[in-house]
Amino acid sequence: MTDHREPLSSVLETIGETPLVEVHDAPEAVPVYAKLESFNPGASIKDRIGKYMLERMLERGDVGEGGTVIEPTAGNTGIGLAVAAKQLGLNAVFVVPERFSVEKQQIMRALGAEVVNTPSDDGMGFAIERAHQIADELDDAVVPQQFSNPLNAEAHYETTAPEIDEALDGEVGAVVAGCGTGGTLMGIARYFRERDPDTHVTAVEPAGSAYREFLGEDVDHEAYKTEGIGTHDIDTNELFDPDLVDDIWAIDDREVHAEMGRLAAEEGHLAASSSAANALAAKRVARGIRDGEIDAPHDAVVTVFPDSSERYLSKGVYRSFEEWEG
Ligand code: PMP
Repeated sequence: MTDHREPLSSVLETIGETPLVEVHDAPEAVPVYAKLESFNPGASIKDRIGKYMLERMLERGDVGEGGTVIEPTAGNTGIGLAVAAKQLGLNAVFVVPERFSVEKQQIMRALGAEVVNTPSDDGMGFAIERAHQIADELDDAVVPQQFSNPLNAEAHYETTAPEIDEALDGEVGAVVAGCGTGGTLMGIARYFRERDPDTHVTAVEPAGSAYREFLGEDVDHEAYKTEGIGTHDIDTNELFDPDLVDDIWAIDDREVHAEMGRLAAEEGHLAASSSAANALAAKRVARGIRDGEIDAPHDAVVTVFPDSSERYLSKGVYRSFEEWEG
């Protein structure tokens, strides 16, 4: 961890201590703050879990130096694990279905990782199987599995949440975050609920995603363009604990697209689609607190901007909604 004022010996020390910045398009009485996670060296929030999970797994002896970490992943988690693996003396192999972002695969390779492609039609389930197969063939290999590994949420409980707590002197009324694995929201929510059980917690997903099934709602499964959050099968989201959330809100791709443009044009944030979804939901929670519709112990709402829009420029995030490939 760093305040960026002294020389550091490794890029791993630059992970975390990201800036917390006010989102201005929010009610004056209930400010919204976003933690800008693209400030991490691999440019996303997943650098935190890459470092945290691998350090703990090395400490516990799940894998030894010179061993291999293998993860089925399409994106930021691979990059975060690749940054940490090399610096911690581990090899990294990522199993990626072919259809996923070519840029992210190039970055994983540049960071020294091996990328094994699986046919897109076989889906993520097959990529997970293949990752375990490769691990079985190697002498000292481990599959962190971010969807089921408690260390994922723990990374946010131990780092992201205390940083927010310190920046706002504990005055956090509500937390809002989009859920992919759910690790970010679960870690932050558990931390603040332990300090004040009335902390309001909102999970965010794209419209068409199935997280609301956790609350017993019927959901029409549909494709969505917002990237990094949402699920099509809640059985895979083993970390998500519905008892830790008050609401699950689905945000429409069209609104997300407009908010991505607004965040850049008005507030100078090159924030990607999941950040825009978080901003929209956080502002709605803030209005709810202002209007007395949501009870919260403090007048401040916190969310995260997980990564940068620059990672998705080739998908046309700043072109028209129709041209955005998602
Ligand atoms: N936004 C982006 C861009 C992501 O890559 C992810 C991780 N899939 C998330 C949000 C959601 O984070 P989590 O897995 O911690 O729920």
